Amino acid sequence: MPVGGLGRIGMNWTLYGHDGSWILVDAGIAFPGENDTTGVDAFIPDPETLLRVVGRIDALVVTHAHEDHIGAIQHVFPRRISCPVWATPFAAAAISRRLDEAGTLDEADIRTFPVGGGFRAGAFSVCSIRMTHSVPEAVALAIFTSAGKLLHTGDFKLDPDPLIGEPTHIAAIRALGDAGLLAMVCDSTNAERDLPVTSEAQVRDSFRRLFASRPGAVVVCCFGTNVARAMSACDAASRAGRRIALAGRSLRAHAATAESLGIAEFPDMLAEPSHLRGLDRREMALVCTGTQGEENAALARLARGGDWRLPDLGLGDTVIMSASVIPGNEAALERVLARLRARGVDVLTQREAPDGLPIHVSGHAGRAELATMHRHARPRFVIPVHGTDSHLHAHASLALECGAKAAPVGADGTVMSVSAACIKVVGRVEIPVIGIRRDEAVLPRATSSGKVAKRAQRAAMSAAA
Ligand SMILES: [Zn+2]
Ligand SMILES: [Zn+2]
Repeated sequence: MPVGGLGRIGMNWTLYGHDGSWILVDAGIAFPGENDTTGVDAFIPDPETLLRVVGRIDALVVTHAHEDHIGAIQHVFPRRISCPVWATPFAAAAISRRLDEAGTLDEADIRTFPVGGGFRAGAFSVCSIRMTHSVPEAVALAIFTSAGKLLHTGDFKLDPDPLIGEPTHIAAIRALGDAGLLAMVCDSTNAERDLPVTSEAQVRDSFRRLFASRPGAVVVCCFGTNVARAMSACDAASRAGRRIALAGRSLRAHAATAESLGIAEFPDMLAEPSHLRGLDRREMALVCTGTQGEENAALARLARGGDWRLPDLGLGDTVIMSASVIPGNEAALERVLARLRARGVDVLTQREAPDGLPIHVSGHAGRAELATMHRHARPRFVIPVHGTDSHLHAHASLALECGAKAAPVGADGTVMSVSAACIKVVGRVEIPVIGIRRDEAVLPRATSSGKVAKRAQRAAMSAAA
C-alpha cells in the first residue's frame, strides 16, 4: 500500500504486508505549495491512523537520505511509531542527527546495513542493491517473501560514472529477474521525459571549464545532500588554483559524514567560508545551499550581502545553480536570484549552461533508463510510484511496453494484493495528511483528528494538483 508519494512528488511512504508482518519503506515529507495558506512547513501521512490500520510495524527501511524519504522520521519515530529503523551508514547518520536534535535519539533503534547488505524483519527478508542517485548510498530493496520476490527501486538513475560509489548494480537486478520477480515498485519521476543518460562526471567537467574561465569568484549552489556535486566543485577549484569552502549546515554535515565513512574526499578545503574573505576574487570558490530560495540558507545570505561569515559577491562573480527547483519554490528562488543579479553577479541556470555541458543533471531515470531497468528486472507486475498522476500513467504504459503483465496506477491508501496469478486492488484506506512545523521536532499527540488535519489534507491535495 502506498501510504504517500502517489499523485504528488514528496511524502514517500510505502507499506508492505505479508503473513502478519508489516514493513514500511521510507517516511518522507511533502513541502507545501506556493499557494498554501496553512502556515505549516511540511506534510506527512497521519501515523496514528496508519498504526490503527496495521496494529504494529516491524521495521522502517530507508532507501536514501532525501527529505521526501526521511524527512518525517524525527517527527514520528520512535514516539508515534516504535520499530527498528534500518538504513545504510550515510542515511543512518543523517537520521541520527535529526533524532539527536529532536532529543529522541536515545529512545530510537537505528540499525545499519552496508550497501548490498540486508536483514530480516518479521516474514520479510530484505536485501539492498546499490543504485545511483543524487545522494551517496542510495539503494533499491529486494524484498523476499514466501509468496515471491519484490523489487522496490527507490529513487535512481543509471549514472555510468557517479563519482561516489560504483554505478547501479545491474547484475544484481538481472539476477533477481532471472530468479523471477513478482513485482517492481518503481520511481516514476522522469517517466514522461526522453532524457539522455547523464552523469555526475559531466557536471564535474562543466565545473572544471567554468572554474578555469570565470573572471571572479565562483559559487556552486546545490542540495546539501549532493556530496558528489560538492566534491566536483572542490576538484574544479583545485585545478583552477582557487580556494574553496562549504557554506550551509546540511551540506557541511553530509560532507563530513561522507568523509568520515571514507566515501568522499575534500582535500584542501578551507575550514570556514569566512576564510575566503580577503583573497583575490579569482582565487575564490564556494559551494552553498539554498537552491529553493530558502531565506535562511547560504545563497539568500550571499544575495543579501554583509554577512561576515561569507565572502561578499559583486560584479564579475558567478553563481552556478546546480539543482532543479521543486514546483512551488520558483518565486522564492527568483527573489534571491534577482538580488544576486542586482549586485552584478552572473547567475547561471540550467538554460544558460555553457558549451552544451550540463551544470545540473537529474538524479532520476528518464524513459530510456527506466526501460533498461524494466528489461533487466523483468517483473511480472509493475507498481509505478513517486510521481504525479501523469508521471504514474506514463510509467505504467512504459512498463506494459516493456513486458509487464499489468501496471496498475494506484493512489495513496490503495491496497494492492500481489500473487503469482494476479495483482488486484483489494481496498482503500483513508490516511489523513497532517501538517507539521519544523520547530515541533516531535509530533504532538492528537493532531490527526479534527478540522486542522482535514484542512491540511485539503491543502496538500490542492498543492499537489
Ligand atoms: Zn524521492
Ligand atoms: Zn531522492
